[in-house]
Amino acid sequence: YKNIFSGIQPTGVPHLGNYLGALRQWVKLQNEADNKTNLYFSIVDLHAITVHQNAEQLRRWRKEMLVSLYAVGLDPARSVIFCQSMVPQHSELMWILSCHASMGYLSRMTQWKSKLSLPENASPLDATPKDKPALRLGLFSYPVLQAADVLLYGTTHVPVGEDQAQHLEFTRELAASFNHAHSTTVFNQPETILSPAKRVMSLTNPTKKMSKSDADVKSRILITDEKDVIEKKIKSALTDSIEGVAYDRDARPGVSNLIDIMYYMDESVAASPEELARDFKDVSMRALKERVAEVVDKNIEPVRTTYNDIMAKDERDRYLTDEATHGAWKAKSQAGRKMEVVRSIMGLQRTF
Ligand code: ATP
Ligand code: MG
Repeated sequence: YKNIFSGIQPTGVPHLGNYLGALRQWVKLQNEADNKTNLYFSIVDLHAITVHQNAEQLRRWRKEMLVSLYAVGLDPARSVIFCQSMVPQHSELMWILSCHASMGYLSRMTQWKSKLSLPENASPLDATPKDKPALRLGLFSYPVLQAADVLLYGTTHVPVGEDQAQHLEFTRELAASFNHAHSTTVFNQPETILSPAKRVMSLTNPTKKMSKSDADVKSRILITDEKDVIEKKIKSALTDSIEGVAYDRDARPGVSNLIDIMYYMDESVAASPEELARDFKDVSMRALKERVAEVVDKNIEPVRTTYNDIMAKDERDRYLTDEATHGAWKAKSQAGRKMEVVRSIMGLQRTF
């Protein structure tokens, strides 16, 4: 059996980084799955609240994420698609894993530091200068919740972008130390699957990854952006003043990111990003950008159209709540079985 699990935070409509680095891979895995493969895709709303969220906004974002997952091609008949907060076993297992997780290991995780704009080598105690949000316990420990998400489903494979690789290593370590402490094999160690476009960069700051939570909306292209918006954002993307087009992610991050985006949106345009850059080497930046926008628009247009269709269908039929409830019910029955085993390993079983 193969069990595939991954999650995405409802912190905005997905962008090209989410799409190329994760969502498109999820759909591919779903469409290639045989009857020995189970797929779980979660809208991880409990992760989203590790930073302050406005409730009305979160409610909207959760719906937009559910619709986005359907729009990219995830099918509730083939994949279990659900909201994390609707399956209480995630929080329950997190507590049990928290009692096994190392504070030292957690303090080396870079993600909570980047959410606080702290340098990667900072210690947890550096996290409370007056001008920065305080380090909350939830933000510090959220890799433990992520480990719970993955381990609840007997996950064998986790398709994610590169920024999540460190958390999955933590998950494997935590699974092994739980197993060791209780002489059990209840948790298996999941493998990370990175897609070829594992790190799409911000359009306005190409040394940072593209993110939903970046304050600058021009830093990312959403899967729902209309053609003119895509054109405008790519036109204003930060490049450099070096003559000609060349692929070099270190020396020319802005141009290389545009080349990557075009190549991974439609791999039929060239044999590799390097090859694609050679085809464009004498072309002006302006012409390159126009071509990138065209390729992005052409390939994302079906997703945008489906997204709008689903939103309109829900306006008429209000069917999304039922669909999401059904997904949560399927996830809960699987997660519930795992928790029964974990509870009895811990001496927390229901029987006396
Ligand atoms: P946030 O800023 O709220 O953290 P995000 O854009 O980082 O949002 P997540 O919900 O944290 O998105 O991550 C969802 C999935 O998308 C993960 O598998 C993550 O690795 C992947 N991902 C996120 N950003 C990128 C990117 N720029 N390139 C490739 N993959 C990405
Ligand atoms: Mg993220």
